[in-house]
Amino acid sequence: ENDSNNKLRHILSTVFKHKDFKSDIQRGAIETISRGKQDVFVSMPTGAGKSLCYQLPAFAARGITLVVSPLIALMQDQLDHLHSLGIPAESLNSKLSATDRKQILSDLECDKPKTILLYVTPELIATDHFKSLTESLMKKKILKYFVVDEAHCVSQWGHDFRPDYLKLGAYRRKYLKQVPCIALTATATAHVVTDIVQQLGLKQPLAKFKIGSFRPNLYYDIKMKELLQDPYEDLKSFAIKALSGVVEDKDDNWSKHGCGIVYCRTRDGCDEVANHLSRNGLPSKAYHAGLKTNIRDQVQVEWMEGKFPIICATISFGMGVDKPNVRFVAHWTLPKSMAGYYQESGRAGRDGNPSYCRLYYSRQDRDTVAFFIQQETSRHTRDKKLAEVRKKSAQDSFEALVKFCLDVKCRHWCIAEYFGDQKPDCGSQCDACKEPKSVEKNLLDFQKGLFT
Ligand code: ADP
Ligand code: MG
Ligand code: ZN
Repeated sequence: ENDSNNKLRHILSTVFKHKDFKSDIQRGAIETISRGKQDVFVSMPTGAGKSLCYQLPAFAARGITLVVSPLIALMQDQLDHLHSLGIPAESLNSKLSATDRKQILSDLECDKPKTILLYVTPELIATDHFKSLTESLMKKKILKYFVVDEAHCVSQWGHDFRPDYLKLGAYRRKYLKQVPCIALTATATAHVVTDIVQQLGLKQPLAKFKIGSFRPNLYYDIKMKELLQDPYEDLKSFAIKALSGVVEDKDDNWSKHGCGIVYCRTRDGCDEVANHLSRNGLPSKAYHAGLKTNIRDQVQVEWMEGKFPIICATISFGMGVDKPNVRFVAHWTLPKSMAGYYQESGRAGRDGNPSYCRLYYSRQDRDTVAFFIQQETSRHTRDKKLAEVRKKSAQDSFEALVKFCLDVKCRHWCIAEYFGDQKPDCGSQCDACKEPKSVEKNLLDFQKGLFT
């Protein structure tokens, strides 16, 4: 036991170049997974280091670890990172050239493949060719782990359901008997967790490793947009405060003050907010699907490099963006779900320093989003039952968010409650705890405004 834990620590520092585990939970998960005796469920907020939980055991076990991941872009980030560490990792996906594919397959089909981590998309797993490849790997007894990253995609109750994920359970039951399954996700509701366990057929006794959702360095507050005299002015002063009041230095290197994200629902909204902030001395750029790919990529790179501080983006921005010094995340319009809001606002303060999350609520917005949810979820027209479940879950999640906004309860408590965590000690890190009187008055004014 001790020997093998020492070995893991050794690999941590020599191969992965980390001085220590990021948390006791990360260490525990890695030790348990490395024993290879049971299925493991890992739930940690974004940025907590879930990848290492399977990458380190995969390296220690040799053989091949199969990793299912929903997006090619996410896989590419992982591959680049692993390659920079000198770890043999490959990915099979639809974007691969024929030559590359052939090369990867020939390695996998030989007696002792060099590949340690093999990333695949869920739709690929369902192909006959991949099934026979799996059989040959099983025959050679070199498949060590079956990893399902972003496992919440399997749940129809999740905010990010992918129908292809539904095939993973059957695949595992048929082809991967005895191979431990590792499911990883950012914080999920109790309902989604149950779904994941069922769908993937995770076996008891299931080892669970969970880090709660509470982020003590994030200050949460909510503004009623319709009560603000000038919402733009409010956003501007919020941004300045979060960036520690440094707007006066005109040609300053912005990167040392950190940066911010403003989320808007529409492309026009992004352009508008970016223009407005820029005109008022806060350099900002828009990021959305209406921009040419090369321009969009450039905006992202420049923001990452700190060339300008504020990016005004639709929610297409942020998946896999791991920037430590994001000092604020503002939602200029309402997000579609509580889970989405937690994830997006959670991009602030990855470095652990004080950061601010502000949500602008308006009645008009609430109606618009409710309408969109109604429209969007009528898409699964072929599968009536699925369509119903999706609609109900989208509505529930949005309702939870609305309730969160129209309540005087501690914001951190509300989030914890939503994810089934224990109540954290907020420490006045939200408006409801810090200035309950004014939050209450605002809500009253808001409601009066609505009914007169
Ligand atoms: P998640 O999947 O939970 O969002 P990642 O696996 O992408 O998180 O890791 C987030 C960041 O944390 C990465 O930059 C990773 O290199 C870093 N990281 C992971 N484990 C450690 C550790 N033990 N020490 C330092 N950094 C770590
Ligand atoms: Mg991850
Ligand atoms: Zn609070």
